[in-house]
Amino acid sequence: MNETLPYDVHRLRELAGEIIINVRELAALGWTPATSSNFSHRLDDAHAAITVSGRDKGKLREGDIMVVDMAGRAVGSDHRPSAETLLHTQLYSRFPDVGCVLHTHSRAQTIASRLFAGAGHVRLEGYELLKAFRGNDTHEAAVDVPVLPNSQDMPTLAAQVDALFDRGPLWGYLIDGHGLYAWGRDMAEARRHLDAFEFLLDCELELRRLTAGH
Ligand SMILES: [Zn+2]
Repeated sequence: MNETLPYDVHRLRELAGEIIINVRELAALGWTPATSSNFSHRLDDAHAAITVSGRDKGKLREGDIMVVDMAGRAVGSDHRPSAETLLHTQLYSRFPDVGCVLHTHSRAQTIASRLFAGAGHVRLEGYELLKAFRGNDTHEAAVDVPVLPNSQDMPTLAAQVDALFDRGPLWGYLIDGHGLYAWGRDMAEARRHLDAFEFLLDCELELRRLTAGH
């Protein structure tokens, strides 16, 4: 542990490398347009590593990863944390087993959020891929992905998200006209959840197109 920093710098470097590799892949898929989206990994009980606001996610470097505390404040740097940092740290604070949070703005996520905003959720049902979500061992279960109204007021948005957690297990949610939040115990699980959401939302949109007017 570094004497002047309250976290393990070696662990931070390790996690920064993992975040960079994964985020570049997600950027290459077109899920992080125009410097949007943000990504984090738990560093320890009191800190998380998170992408600095406004950086091109396809060209991330180690200096683009910063440390924040669980209130979303910068630690050990004067980088500006994303306004949405609170939506990451609320997951780490509430769930000790959440280790990684991924937030993207893909086309399918954005369009689905608009289309299903009125309903307040997207129902995913009957898909084999529902088994990709931790604890879901059957395709017979239905998963309702909540769609929250967009807001620039993060404490309000965070409070709405917190209320969702009281209802039952959740692996992600959409924000209207904005994008998706997905998480897991580690990067691999969060990526699996994110990939499953993206695939299933895309299926729902395609089904809508194919059945329109029938
Ligand atoms: Zn966002």
